[in-house]
Amino acid sequence: MDKITDKKNVNILIIEDEIAIAQGLVDLCEYKGYRGEFVQDGALGLQKALSGKYDLIILDLMLPGLDGFSVCNGIREKDREIPIIILSAKTSENDIIEGLNLGADDYISKPFSVEQLFARVQAVLRRSHKTVNPDEVLKIGDLEVRFRDFMGKKGNETLEFTRKEIEILQYLWTHCNRVIPRHELLQEVWGYENAEAVDTRTVDIHITKLRKKIEDDSSRPKYLTTLRGEGYQLNSLDEV
Ligand code: CA
Repeated sequence: MDKITDKKNVNILIIEDEIAIAQGLVDLCEYKGYRGEFVQDGALGLQKALSGKYDLIILDLMLPGLDGFSVCNGIREKDREIPIIILSAKTSENDIIEGLNLGADDYISKPFSVEQLFARVQAVLRRSHKTVNPDEVLKIGDLEVRFRDFMGKKGNETLEFTRKEIEILQYLWTHCNRVIPRHELLQEVWGYENAEAVDTRTVDIHITKLRKKIEDDSSRPKYLTTLRGEGYQLNSLDEV
């Protein structure tokens, strides 16, 4: 079982001003096993979309506050990873192309089929979890980690990582500012099917090793924190 089939861990933000559609989508998310939340204003939607709390955005185009194209653009300026599905009554080819050019992952016309929408949601989520860019560089404060060659630096100090440490950091970096349960790391990084049955100490040991490398004081971590009983979180620091 991967994270995608474990849908209750997937938070979907719906940016939609029409209350009947917005509430309907939240109900559908829950019916389909996801967690859904809506916001009716574009500017507020952008702010929420960048909070790091969500795994996917469903975005209307005609919105008060800030239109959907600007919201999409604003999200992509700061976050290239989070999947965005535009759901709009604007169905001209130009609108569709503009949406996709701004970095939306998919575009669905209203009125829409529920089954089609959730098939796309599933597909986009699956894709987003597979496309980790090895050329990406993790940068938080004075810490820098290059995924490509397993090297990094902290201030003037050179750091070397193992493949597993890099895989852990990549996963946490992709889900920055979100608490990742140990069993999710075991599923996604180690590839265990039945992670609940696996001893989670292997995760803790790797995290401890990582902290010795990246933290100023590994007993009082600020980059890679533990939320007791819940899991681990990589903090981008600019949020706190
Ligand atoms: Ca609208």
